[in-house]
Amino acid sequence: MPIKDQPRPPRSRQVGNVLLLLSGLFLLANLFLPRLFGPQIPQVPYSLFIHQVEAQQVVAASVGQNQIQYQLKGEDGKPGQVLATTPIFDLELPRLLEAKGVEFAATPPPKNGWFTSLLGWVVPPLIFVAIYQFFIGRGGIGGPQGALSITKSKAKVYVEGESAKTTFKDVAGVEEAKTELVEIVEFLKTPERFTQIGARIPKGVLLVGPPGTGKTLLAKAVAGEAGVSFFSISGSEFVELFVGAGAARVRDLFEQAKKQAPCIIFIDELDAIGKSRSSGFYGGNDEREQTLNQLLTEMDGFAVGDATVIVLAATNRPESLDAALLRPGRFDRQVLVDRPDLSGRKAILEIHAQKVKLGADVDLKAIATRTPGFAGADLANLVNEAALLAARSRREAVAQADFAEAIERVVAGLEKKSRVLNDKEKKIVAYHEVGHAIVGYSMPGGGRVEKISIVPRGMAALGYTLQLPTEDRFLMDEAELRGQIATLLGGRSAEEIVFGSITTGASNDLQRATDLAERMVTTYGMSKILGPLAYQQGQQAMFLGNEGTNPRRMLSEQTAEAIDAEVKGIVETAHQQALDILRQNQDLLETIATQLLETEVIEGEKLHSLLNQVHP
Ligand code: ADP
Ligand code: MG
Ligand code: ZN
Repeated sequence: MPIKDQPRPPRSRQVGNVLLLLSGLFLLANLFLPRLFGPQIPQVPYSLFIHQVEAQQVVAASVGQNQIQYQLKGEDGKPGQVLATTPIFDLELPRLLEAKGVEFAATPPPKNGWFTSLLGWVVPPLIFVAIYQFFIGRGGIGGPQGALSITKSKAKVYVEGESAKTTFKDVAGVEEAKTELVEIVEFLKTPERFTQIGARIPKGVLLVGPPGTGKTLLAKAVAGEAGVSFFSISGSEFVELFVGAGAARVRDLFEQAKKQAPCIIFIDELDAIGKSRSSGFYGGNDEREQTLNQLLTEMDGFAVGDATVIVLAATNRPESLDAALLRPGRFDRQVLVDRPDLSGRKAILEIHAQKVKLGADVDLKAIATRTPGFAGADLANLVNEAALLAARSRREAVAQADFAEAIERVVAGLEKKSRVLNDKEKKIVAYHEVGHAIVGYSMPGGGRVEKISIVPRGMAALGYTLQLPTEDRFLMDEAELRGQIATLLGGRSAEEIVFGSITTGASNDLQRATDLAERMVTTYGMSKILGPLAYQQGQQAMFLGNEGTNPRRMLSEQTAEAIDAEVKGIVETAHQQALDILRQNQDLLETIATQLLETEVIEGEKLHSLLNQVHP
């Protein structure tokens, strides 16, 4: 990627540097001028001076506070040599001089001084001003752009038309994100096409996804494809210095970008500045807050139809971002950049394998199969590790065995970060998710099951089943709620049927199922035994701090027991329902899970046709 240091306005910067240099010179001059240009008088030790006085070789002396200058007797009437010494506090000196017949006087205060003392007064403050300018200041000496400033955004600019630029071809396995960004590129290339029909060009696009999935790479590819200037800066660079510097940098960055429009600003690691303002102790970090506010102001600042500046940003912690950033007109588009599935991993391996010599036995598909949960960066790393191994044993090309060993190494590293499943775990997750899907499909009001995936997502979920509601729902009836509970229990039920044991992976499902059942009983009044009463406690009970009591409304012991029994009853019924459905469809469960293990993701038509075979 061609990265050029940003062409900043060079003149103002130079002015500043020259100024700094001059100040320094002045200071040196101030210190040494008197020595350099004053009379060059040889210095002698005080003891020699006293000795010479006693030997009556001294004619005259001028006694100053810091220096005694004296003249020796000359020969043949010529004036003798002038010497100087540094005095020691010596009250006897005048008496001695008088006794030895030396003509002496006190030295008048130095008269050379106005220029040097002026420098002495003026230069140090100048230096401080210059230093201040250098770090913080704007305006002043360097003109309105603020010379010398570190507040200059350190943005790197990627310039079009240079070789080896990143394009979408270099990115694989993140097709949805690519589709979104292709559109952004279209915007930048032909904005008229969109503005003509009145479409609003998005201002901000946020790339969200786990580390190493190619967010930065995608942003570079956008720049490469669009052929526009590309300002890239990392969020952490905004928060490193002094209060105020970050905000100034943001202002500066946008100023420059607007001048070069159409262009892209890319803020990597947005969470470094975009963290929620309310978080943190003592009201959070002042500096970061100022920077964030400035960013919000700038993003609101450029109007629609104005210069086309699109702000791209990346984060792997979207949940920590300040909500204000996600409002319309700011980062109103969010693009998920997720870990790749099987075919995505193969495609990524193909990209990176181009850089190494592959042996004939290398099977990238097999490697992709063995690397679930790997992000793009992990795969790039894997290819490199394999190449290193081959080079170490002085082979010409990388063999499949090198990849096998490299996988082990990379996995060992990743396992510390605990996101790679072993085969057994993967199998359990597959059956679990298919269990959700089959039960969900046969339950009323469940909506369409759109996607089953066992590609690990985010931090917690190992797999997921995506069920889209068929319509917007505000009201649900009892049967539908029971259906949802059964669906939630479907995962665990499948584990029970197939493996005869249960893993910890289902805990979140159980939590949600229990909550739902409890709400049915205590909030929605759906229990025949307890009747249409709201048993949900108000907030007070917690406020009063009676932690020991039942968290529901002040309930009699019996009522509490009755509620527990009802909730348990609902969950157990749903569990039984789920088990029944799955036993009915055990062959299908087997079929789909096997297929899921192979492809990791099943979605769309293929999934529908599989689920259509479910026996109700
Ligand atoms: P992120 O910004 O999401 O943390 P990066 O874009 O910095 O990840 O990825 C680091 C490197 O990993 C990239 O430079 C590239 O070599 C490789 N990589 C990551 N994702 C992909 C991908 N989807 N396709 C190809 N290479 C990828
Ligand atoms: Mg990155
Ligand atoms: Zn589950």
